Amino acid sequence: MIIHIDMDAFYASVEQLDNPDLKGKCLIIGGTSYRSVVSTASYEARKYGVHSAMPIYQAKQRCPQAIFLPPRMERYKEISNQIMFLLNGFSPLVEPVSIDEAYVDITGCSKLFGGPEKIAVEIKKKIKACLQLSCSVGIAPNKFLAKIASDLNKPDGLTLIMPHIALEFIESLPIQKVPGVGQERNRILARMGIRTLGDVKNYPLDMLFKKLGKYGKRLLELSYCIDNSPVSPLSPNKSISSEHTLFEDTSDVRLLNRYLLIQAEEIGRDLRRLNMRAKTITLKIKHADFEQVTRSLTVDCPTKSTVTIYKLAQKILSRYKIIKKIRLVGLAASNLVSADLPVQMDLFKTEQRQGRKWEKVDRAIDVITRKYGKDIIKRASLTED
Ligand SMILES: [Mg+2]
Repeated sequence: MIIHIDMDAFYASVEQLDNPDLKGKCLIIGGTSYRSVVSTASYEARKYGVHSAMPIYQAKQRCPQAIFLPPRMERYKEISNQIMFLLNGFSPLVEPVSIDEAYVDITGCSKLFGGPEKIAVEIKKKIKACLQLSCSVGIAPNKFLAKIASDLNKPDGLTLIMPHIALEFIESLPIQKVPGVGQERNRILARMGIRTLGDVKNYPLDMLFKKLGKYGKRLLELSYCIDNSPVSPLSPNKSISSEHTLFEDTSDVRLLNRYLLIQAEEIGRDLRRLNMRAKTITLKIKHADFEQVTRSLTVDCPTKSTVTIYKLAQKILSRYKIIKKIRLVGLAASNLVSADLPVQMDLFKTEQRQGRKWEKVDRAIDVITRKYGKDIIKRASLTED
């Protein structure tokens, strides 16, 4: 059995934890510019129809009495690490999926802690006792259903889908609740008359494949409750990302590069904290008309160096022809491998050797920022003009 843990209104709850005056109030965490969107709204603010990804100005209209705060990612990451640490006390198989979500494989833990429900209750209790935060958990025979279950009774929920009722549950599960079904796929599925995940079973594989590609096969498997993806603490398909909505739409490459450096800095720091290296760097661009593109570059020698990540990002951007103004820029590192794995060094590739030298600089910067905060030290190219 697998448990999915999802913290309730995580950013807002952490702010309320650090400043009890905020408890019970409408609190909205998001960027400060009028173009920003809501990252998290406290449950008090959600009553007014505020939700994540909503533009801040709209949130202000719906809930003018709310307190608006910018996110403090470093603090959230700190708490996130503590949560993951607590979860590791229950099972060695913990897979963090995002800052406030994780899967825990509890197969084999029942001797120590009791049945699945008992373990879930204990996890909730532990997080509450140690961090004064609430979470919602889903327990199910696989990751896919566990995630759906944790979402069913938010906040502070606990939902158990036992193996023998899983198929029945899937039969009536609205198709848009299935991860991966966005607007586009939903339209295709609606045209086929598929409204619930159970409906997928009415179609043969080749038909689904024709309409949806590989994802069609995945859907068919899910409709039979087949999801063999393991809970893996070092999942290679995990990615670390950072993105910024710009203050105004731009096509200024210099400005974009400055954002990329900030993002490379953040991603590098995360990789080093997790003791991982990335093989693939992806640039994400959202245009003023909301059209989104991504471009990736994969290297032979995985990296955790800020400068190397930045150089790769610059390279990708330089190959991209900017014809429309850009609204958002972001970077992601994926294809992760443990930093303990030996990396093949090519003696003739000076870039590689330089990358290694930069890693020493990174380590020094990490130590300083951990001690004095991330604003104390900045790369020279971030301080110009
Ligand atoms: Mg959450």
